[in-house]
Amino acid sequence: MTDPIDIQKLDGVPVLVVGLGASGRAAAHFLAERGAVVTANDSRDSVDEAEALAAAGVTLALGGHDEALFTRAELIVLSPGVPPLAAVDAAEAAGVPIWSEIELASRFLNGTLVAITGTNGKSTVTSLIAAMGDAAGIPTFAGGNLGTPLIEAVGTDAGERGLIVAEVSSFQLERVDRFRPTVAVLLNVSEDHLDRYDDYAGYVAAKGNIFGAQGATDHAVVPSDDQVCLGLAQAGAAAVHTFGPDGELRIEDGKLRDAESGLEVPVEALALVGGPNELNSCAAALAARLAGVELAAIRSTLVSFRGLPHRMERVGEVKRVTFYDDSKATNVGAAVAAIKGFAGGVGKVVLIAGGKDKGGSYDPLREALASTGRGAVLIGEAADLILDGLADVVPVQRRATMVEAVTAAFELARPGDVVLLAPACSSFDMYRSYAHRGDDFQDAVRALGAA
Ligand code: ADP
Repeated sequence: MTDPIDIQKLDGVPVLVVGLGASGRAAAHFLAERGAVVTANDSRDSVDEAEALAAAGVTLALGGHDEALFTRAELIVLSPGVPPLAAVDAAEAAGVPIWSEIELASRFLNGTLVAITGTNGKSTVTSLIAAMGDAAGIPTFAGGNLGTPLIEAVGTDAGERGLIVAEVSSFQLERVDRFRPTVAVLLNVSEDHLDRYDDYAGYVAAKGNIFGAQGATDHAVVPSDDQVCLGLAQAGAAAVHTFGPDGELRIEDGKLRDAESGLEVPVEALALVGGPNELNSCAAALAARLAGVELAAIRSTLVSFRGLPHRMERVGEVKRVTFYDDSKATNVGAAVAAIKGFAGGVGKVVLIAGGKDKGGSYDPLREALASTGRGAVLIGEAADLILDGLADVVPVQRRATMVEAVTAAFELARPGDVVLLAPACSSFDMYRSYAHRGDDFQDAVRALGAA
């Protein structure tokens, strides 16, 4: 298929950038620098850094989505946060190519691209692989859905000849065409964002696009025991590699083991502990090896990497009850993985969950708490929805604030237990972000310890 857009000839080409968050603004600047005639559109009346965009020659079209703007463009760059729009449908019907910012960026990247998607664990695995690249002394960029937009890797040492490690979301993957990672990792798929997708199948299909443009010399990395992920990888052209129970890279006899390279690291030496983190270490080690990172750097990073905040973060201990902040567990799959990580431990788990509902089922929490739970304390808008499904499994309470929830959870816990904030919901009913919620939890735990 001939490409409607010759990227070497952006000069004078009318491009519309829709959605002016960080990645949309970065794309607008990038295109303007290369001579495109850029219009930047957002439903909001005012956006951050509007002056800088105007100074770069970008025309701002704010406060709505005028259909004519969309159908007149020769290329649309659509930001991941933009909801379905009639104007986008009209442009698509008119044959206008619609790309996400990662599609645009990938066409200008010459280094080794490692892309990571999945419902959960993306940021952790992205940071871990990038730390392996750094440890090997390779110029390395880490970004995408996490932190710096991918387009900012273009022209850097990493972008030209190093390692580009990109976290990519299903929203970004909705609009790709030639986005072709050398190593594409799909960590897992479970229900999330059902408020955005018509159905689960649509969400799964978007994740599978990470493999869509790969060729026979590329690598697809998926869990060995997940038929959905395996199926998506096998539908592509890349060589399929697996991690997990029967995988090429697995945990066996108390060791993380890579059959192919001979890498062996005792599980107790792994730096990332708790919940699904052993699997994340396996996925990262496999992807890094396939991307050409040397074994010594993979090994040293596996034993030294410090985890990210609000992901299974150990906050402290009060009277032999340990508190973990997993505020980033914003869906049921993540919360279940966090709870199951404590199965077989000394104590049980008192879960603090709830927040803004995303439209999925909370049933999997039932099963996880039935075996590993001591109790649950629920907060936020979704509290009643979750409560109904759990009340016959463990003692459940409802509380209005985080301080009250932490106190109630501490009272339910026995010595040796864990109090785990793993909300299974987004934070926006009570907080600005998952980080804000996690900070509130950590403050409440410290206040409890000081009391
Ligand atoms: P993402 O970027 O995909 O949101 P993070 O690395 O920020 O992923 O982790 C988000 C949450 O997902 C964590 O708080 C943890 O509860 C959970 N999690 C991490 N890794 C996994 C995994 N491999 N499987 C299931 N849940 C996971």
